[in-house]
Parts: sequence; structure tokens; C-alpha cells
Amino acid sequence: MRKPKIVILGAGYGGLMTATRLQKSLGVNEAEIVLVNKNDYHYETTWLHEASAGTLHHDRVRYDISNVIDKNKVAFVKGTVTDIKTDEKVVLLEDGQISYDYLVFALGGESETFGIQGLKEHAFTITNVNTARKLRDHIEYQFATYNEIGNSEPLTIVVGGAGFTGIEFLGELANRVPELCKEYDVDFHKVRIICVEAAPTALPGFDPELVNYAVSTLEKKGVEFRIGTAIKGCNPDGIIVAKGEDEVEEIKAKTVVWAAGVRGSSVIEQSGIEAMRGRVKVNPDLRAPGHDNIFVIGDSSLVINEEINRPYPPTAQIAMQQGEVVAKNLTALIRNETNLQSFTPDIKGTVCSLGHDDAIGVVFGKKLVGKKASFMKKMVDNRALFMIGGTSTVLKKGKFNIL
Ligand code: FAD
Ligand code: NAD
Repeated sequence: MRKPKIVILGAGYGGLMTATRLQKSLGVNEAEIVLVNKNDYHYETTWLHEASAGTLHHDRVRYDISNVIDKNKVAFVKGTVTDIKTDEKVVLLEDGQISYDYLVFALGGESETFGIQGLKEHAFTITNVNTARKLRDHIEYQFATYNEIGNSEPLTIVVGGAGFTGIEFLGELANRVPELCKEYDVDFHKVRIICVEAAPTALPGFDPELVNYAVSTLEKKGVEFRIGTAIKGCNPDGIIVAKGEDEVEEIKAKTVVWAAGVRGSSVIEQSGIEAMRGRVKVNPDLRAPGHDNIFVIGDSSLVINEEINRPYPPTAQIAMQQGEVVAKNLTALIRNETNLQSFTPDIKGTVCSLGHDDAIGVVFGKKLVGKKASFMKKMVDNRALFMIGGTSTVLKKGKFNIL
């Protein structure tokens, strides 16, 4: 009899967690498992702000997928997914196609520019290893050429959005800039780092005391915050911002980083599976409504927090927990069991780094700042490596510069 075929799309936190759990729970004769990913490496999306600022080399944030999958049980296909034909149970790749019986959609998120003019063309994002390398190199180039050009303008870097991504990137950047100034003989006072945030506060919704700590720490390192100010446009010379109805201003900047929005994968929309901004409001067992053989997890899924009737923010923490549940549910389906597990996020906390030696966070309901929070952040980072790749991956890639 033909074995049922499980195809997992994406080797990020959700997809790789599903694959590594399935290779433990299913026997070789029970199912054929195929993992598809654009690159033959996995990257820690949660470390990309470091690679983008140049405080951590991009090779430190990635590892080979072949190191963590059992090749006897999981076949890896390097390919870019372009569409899913759900009626025919086929995934289309840029070069080829793969049929499936069960599908796990875990292609992660994409940057969302909300149609703001010029952002797609002129702003950098913090999305994957390529965007990180480009941004790091661009920033370095600005420093390398600053004196040569004989510039009267300051060397300005704008960060759009003071959400967790924006703040974590600013933490790294604020530490990197003095090093770059020294390396390229640029006067520190000629450098401006401006963070533009539309909401009335940085890190909207987070503990105000911790937000104040983060903002004042970054301000002491030279970051200027423009709070309650929205980016309205971007061009090769900088950005247009608006405060209220009438106050419109142009900020000149050779580097604009857009860290102000994420959405689900555009492949979901292409496939016709019902979604909002690329995110599928999944059933409790993580299947897409109307598609009994398709699970959607990670940043392309939407799970409602019933307590506040709002979606949970998309995080690696949730993507990994979903991967574990999907592996259990697929194992049950393959074994013709009908009881599938419902997914309930188990949020252990949130820690936001402010560079390598400082952070803020709430962990198991307890507030942390400074070195304690930074230690906790590194433990969280190492835990993710361990959960997917075990001890050997932690030893190769882990963060041990504890303090
Ligand atoms: P991802 O881990 O992003 O993986 C998606 C995978 O799919 C990638 O390997 C990608 O290459 C691949 N892929 C995408 N499109 C295609 C395609 N068309 N074809 C083939 N392959 C494709 N969350 C936390 O919980 N804690 C944190 O501290 C934290 N820090 C963050 C810091 C930063 C700078 C950022 C940007 C995010 C952070 N997050 C954090 C959020 C977290 O990274 C995401 O929620 C998480 O990565 C989502 O996991 P995922 O499996 O859905 O997607
Ligand atoms: P986000 O959506 O959480 O934050 C975006 C920020 O940009 C918001 O504060 C928003 O008010 C602001 N904004 C939106 N439009 C704007 C505009 N036109 N001009 C200026 N500001 C504007 O996005 P994110 O920070 O990229 O986070 C994405 C997800 O990843 C979230 O779920 C977050 O929790 C998670 N994440 C977690 C961590 C962590 O736990 N340490 C780190 C990074 C990201």
C-alpha cells in the first residue's frame, strides 16, 4: 500500500519543529515526509536584528537543515514555493511540483508596507539572511564613504517602527555605531539614529515601566525617538513623516529601515485559502477551515486570544509550540485516530534585547531589566536551538557570552 505523503513547507521555527518531531513519532513505513525550503539552511529569524546591524555574523544565525533532519525519514527539497493547487493536492515550486496527502504550511511572514509609497523600493527590512546582509553592508558603506563625499548632512539612519523588531535592532545599532565611527574615522556627533513610531508610545501594549527603561537606555546611546509620528512616504533621499493632521516633515536619510509591520505569506493568498493579509484563522486543531488535510502554523496562522478577543502576536514561541501540536495531530491522522489536539499557546514571557548586554522582559509574570534580562534572552535563544537541533546545535551555534 502507498504510504501517505506529508509535505512541510518552510524550515523555520514552525516547519522544522514539525519535521523533527514527526521524525521521532512516525516509523519509516508509516509515512513519507518531505520538507521544502528556499535555502538549504535554517536561520534564526529572532537573531536577524544582530546580523542586520553587523553585531553578529550572518553565519552565526544559520545552520544546515541536513544537520537536524533524519535523512532516512525526512526528504529535503530545496525549492521556492509559488502556489498550492488544493483541489489537485499539489504544491508548485519555481522549478517543479510536489504532490501531497497532508500539507503543513509554515512559510513564515513577510514585511507589510501598508501601501506606503516608496517603502518597497527604498527601505530595507529585517526579514531573512539576504536582507540582513544587504542592510549591514549598506550601513557600513555609508560610513566608509561619508568623509570621501565631504558631506555637510549628518549620516542619518531612520528606523520605522518601535515595535520589538525596531527596538531590538536599535539596541544593536546603538552599540555598533561607535565602532563604525572609529573604524571609518567618522565623528560620532555627525551620526543620527532616528526612530519613528506612529503609536503614542514605543512598544505599544508592553509594560510602561519597561518601555521607559528601553527608551531612556537607547536615548542615552544617541537614539532620537519621534513618537506619535507616522511614516507616510519614502524616497531615495529619506522619508516623509506626519504628526497629526497638518505637521508634515521630510527627514533626510540614506538608510531607512522599515520594521513597522509583518503579514503572512503571499503564497497563501495566491493559493485561494481564505486569509487576512496572508494569515489564516486556523481551527483549534490548526487546520485551515474547509481543508482537512492542510495545517497552517507560525506567522501565516492567526490564533485568537479569547481573553482579549485579539490575535496573538506572531512569535517564534508560538510557531514552535504549533509545530509540536501539528506533529502530534498528523501522527494521529496517519494512525486513523480521530481525536486531534487543540492548540492553546503557553506564553512563558517576552524578552526584548537592547544590545548584547542589556534587555527588558516579563518572564513567568516577573519583570526583568539589564543583565538579568539579557541572560534570560540568551537562554531563550539557546532553548530554541535545543528544541529543534538538540545539544550539538546549541554547542555549535549557542550564545555563551553570558555576561
Ligand atoms: P520563519 O521562522 O520565518 O521560517 C519561514 C521559513 O520559510 C524560512 O526558512 C524561509 O526561508 C522559508 N520560506 C519563506 N517563503 C518561502 C517560499 N516561498 N518557498 C520556500 N521557502 C520559503 N519571536 C519570539 O518568539 N521571540 C523573539 O525574541 C523574537 N524576536 C524576533 C526578532 C526579529 C528581528 C524578528 C524579525 C522576529 C522576531 N520574532 C520573535 C518573531 C519570530 O521570528 C517569528 O514569529 C517566527 O520566525 C515565525 O516562525 P515561522 O516558522 O512562521 O517562520
Ligand atoms: P509590530 O507590528 O509588533 O510593530 C510595528 C510597530 O510599527 C508598531 O509599534 C506600530 O505602531 C509601528 N508602525 C506601524 N505603522 C507605522 C508607520 N507608518 N510609521 C511609524 N510607525 C509605524 O512588528 P515587529 O516589531 O516587527 O514584530 C513582529 C512580530 O514579531 C510581533 O509579533 C512581535 O511580538 C514579534 N517579535 C518579538 C520579539 C521578541 O519577543 N523579542 C522581537 C521582535 C519581534
